[in-house]
Amino acid sequence: MKPPPFAYHAPRTLGEALDALAADPSAKVLAGGQSLIPLLNMRLAAPSALVDINRVAELDTLRVGADGVRAGALARHARVERSDEAAAVQPLLRSALRHVAHPAVRNRGTVVGSLAHADPAAEMPAVLALLGGTVEAASAAGRRTVAAGAFFRGPMEPALEPGEIAVSAFFPAVPPRTGTAFAETARRHGDYALAGVAALVTLDAGLRVAAARAAYLGVAATPLVLDLTGPAGPDGDWAAAAAHVRERIDPEGDVHAGADYRRHLTGVLTGRALRTAAARALPAAGE
Ligand SMILES: Cc1cc2nc3c(=O)[nH]c(=O)nc-3n(C[C@H](O)[C@H](O)[C@H](O)COP(=O)(O)OP(=O)(O)OC[C@H]3O[C@@H](n4cnc5c(N)ncnc54)[C@H](O)[C@@H]3O)c2cc1C
Repeated sequence: MKPPPFAYHAPRTLGEALDALAADPSAKVLAGGQSLIPLLNMRLAAPSALVDINRVAELDTLRVGADGVRAGALARHARVERSDEAAAVQPLLRSALRHVAHPAVRNRGTVVGSLAHADPAAEMPAVLALLGGTVEAASAAGRRTVAAGAFFRGPMEPALEPGEIAVSAFFPAVPPRTGTAFAETARRHGDYALAGVAALVTLDAGLRVAAARAAYLGVAATPLVLDLTGPAGPDGDWAAAAAHVRERIDPEGDVHAGADYRRHLTGVLTGRALRTAAARALPAAGE
């Protein structure tokens, strides 16, 4: 199908982009277009205008520091996935991005666009939620920082107001003695997951479990973060943690998988991801 008619703006600076958005409350930002263009073509979205940010060079950034990774609004999935610097500071990004669609989609789709799209089946929202990251939003009125916990209001409902552009997202670095892991099951590689989990385990000086956390995709309306430190206990009883998760979640069934299967799958993926994260938290020999 063809999209409904819309005006098209191709600003070259962030200021011009914000002005174009401020002038039209029902305009939409176009980033990678990997979600928005299909929605337009299926006429599930009918914005009056598109503000294409692809020429705004100041948004095409990927900054890696000791404290974490900041992806600008034009950092494509593939750029973040391939960055060795980003993987060294926060390896969960690369682990999760490998599950996002196919390389062709990752070459064009953006990490920030995925957050702004707020699909509960997407990987990046769960990663941001698990790590307690932030999204920086800009409008003609100024800038603000939104914590991951407040950013995902509902399915496809980010905490962005009309006139705002998500200019970057910050993923905090992996803390010391901490490992992360990502696991999901999809019907075919590259499909959206039936269920998925991002996990983080921190060990104490005696190598006992000090913290265990997991964030889920595909099982709730927004990324669901569960603290599993108590259920796992200091020795890392991952089966008990998985059983706890199965009781806590209330997934929906659909044509691809029933609710009971999704619950079971989520438990299995939880055990797997926590075990891997704990192994990665162990200090390397000689440390
Ligand atoms: C075949 C296929 C398979 C896919 N599989 C997966 C998958 O397995 N997992 C997954 O996570 N994703 C998947 N995707 C989606 C892909 O990851 C998209 O790239 C991503 O969801 C949106 O990023 P984008 O840059 O393409 O955003 P766009 O499509 O340009 O925009 C998406 C939405 O976010 C808004 N938006 C985008 N950027 C901003 C911004 N900076 N500020 C404010 N609003 C903004 C737009 O207005 C729009 O509403 C798939 C896509 C395709 C086509």
